[in-house]
Amino acid sequence: MPDIIKRNRRLIFIALGMVIFLPPLSIIPQTAGEVNMCGAVCPRMFFIIPAKGWSALVNNISSAWFGVGLVSAILAVTVFFGRLWCSHICPVGGTAEIVSRGIPKKLKIDFSFMNAPAFRYGYLFIYMAGAVIGIGSIACKLCNFRVLPFLAGSPFVPAYRTYLLTSMGIAGLLTIGLTGFFAKGGRAYCNLLCPIGALDSIANYLGSKLGFTKRMKTDISRCSGCGRCVDSCMVWALSLDDDWKAKREQASCMSCRECEKVCPEGAIGYERD
Ligand code: SF4
Ligand code: SF4
Repeated sequence: MPDIIKRNRRLIFIALGMVIFLPPLSIIPQTAGEVNMCGAVCPRMFFIIPAKGWSALVNNISSAWFGVGLVSAILAVTVFFGRLWCSHICPVGGTAEIVSRGIPKKLKIDFSFMNAPAFRYGYLFIYMAGAVIGIGSIACKLCNFRVLPFLAGSPFVPAYRTYLLTSMGIAGLLTIGLTGFFAKGGRAYCNLLCPIGALDSIANYLGSKLGFTKRMKTDISRCSGCGRCVDSCMVWALSLDDDWKAKREQASCMSCRECEKVCPEGAIGYERD
């Protein structure tokens, strides 16, 4: 395989994910009779705690049947191989990452001061309980899976342009703009606000404890503490400890392997525990 393809393999997968999931082609959603990622394809609504009794949960699951299948497949792959959906395929996080690469560095917002696990699971709880505590609309208002397909399809569909000018559309654009396009690394939404990302990080952590699965590892004995991996990580899963050795927060790690590419000591790899 030519070196240029090898180095950019992940971005090629992401571009493919954008083509098959997003308008104007929407190849995968169309197999479920949708043109964007709502309705039967919605991967986020079926697991919220329903305000109208548990029978509503069964309705949510059956109406979002494709989304249920998609999320089940994502979590199963993550348990055994790491977060390949988030890092290699997700058309939403992937688009935000690619767009953010074109934004000048000085305009980017660095969210790495935030405690990602605490925020992510705190928000997951609020998201799941939102309908019960009367703020259920945040599920759609702050949904990148809703706003991004509308944005991608807006040059072709006038109704999408109209939607983007509603309060919900503007809230969605602000969310993806600030935590995606203008975020350092482009993945702050994935790391802080995506309910699928939060469930996926739990699956990633549990899978890493099975003993036979591969995950990103650092050979501390080879680490010189240069910090390049820390800088390359779009979800701030790496930091230097008191001994100037790179340490990883495994649940947040998306197995993107960008840190492996930049390590001058060859200390990082995708390996078995
Ligand atoms: S720790 Fe490495 S593999 Fe994991 S998300 Fe960060 S850069 Fe990617
Ligand atoms: S890039 Fe390699 S040598 Fe540098 S801090 Fe990270 S693991 Fe250590």
